[in-house]
Amino acid sequence: MNDLVRLGSYPIIFGITAFAQLLLIEAGISHWPYAILVAGAGISAVAILERVLPYEPSWNLDHEDTLPDILHATFSLGFIFASVEIAEIIRVLVPFSKVWPNTLPLWAQVFVAGLIIDFGLWLMHWLSHKNDYLWKLHALHHSAERLYWLNGERRHPLSALLLAGPGTLLAIFLGAPAEVVGCWYTIIAVHLAFQHSNLDYTVGPLRNILGVAEIHRWHHKKEYEDSQVNFGEFWMIWDQLFRTFHHTVNGVKKGEVGMREKMPTTYLKQIAWPFRRTTSVKKHG
Ligand SMILES: [Zn+2]
Repeated sequence: MNDLVRLGSYPIIFGITAFAQLLLIEAGISHWPYAILVAGAGISAVAILERVLPYEPSWNLDHEDTLPDILHATFSLGFIFASVEIAEIIRVLVPFSKVWPNTLPLWAQVFVAGLIIDFGLWLMHWLSHKNDYLWKLHALHHSAERLYWLNGERRHPLSALLLAGPGTLLAIFLGAPAEVVGCWYTIIAVHLAFQHSNLDYTVGPLRNILGVAEIHRWHHKKEYEDSQVNFGEFWMIWDQLFRTFHHTVNGVKKGEVGMREKMPTTYLKQIAWPFRRTTSVKKHG
């Protein structure tokens, strides 16, 4: 049973939710509310499986973070799904390039849009670690002292906007249909739950190209200097290409994730935190 969970969780759950979402857009079924149901089912499955086969049992216990993380997830997922509507509005307002490969099957268009959005995220994520101001906004995501299914959406809304905005806008300006962009984000919502999950799963050698938990945990190492690796959201090809990929077999354990500096534990104080700081978090961390 444990082997089934360890080896089957990602391909089965991620595979089914991605396939279901592709079927929805192929059938022309509206994004709302079905995409949220598909993403919700996938994310819930990850949350349940963490209880069955945890990577680090103590990470299943509240670290004074569950309530604010629920609020972060609610707003982050709301933002993701609202971006589909925003994409549609932008589509009406601005002239679009004719370069988008409309003749490709929808699944291939989702793949292409995903590559563009994913590279934009990688680049903005990398910049969020290099630039002091962007880091203050991004630090909330790194402040969690455990990794579990809700962490994927623990983001400052401004950071989320800056991370996802450029790649998404580029895809839209190149002519990507809103439902194609929305499909990618729905699939990614499930992937993000896996990426941060406390589930002891593996995808074997595919870890070298997919941003799964065993790779992404290195990115959450407590020491700022150690966390400058594995920026990828879905694809790890960007980290491979720019030599920021890191993995060793020993793995990341409890007490090794988070940030040197303490983050407030209430939602509103977390949102206000980047604007109250005047010194570099990295230097004082
Ligand atoms: Zn980061």
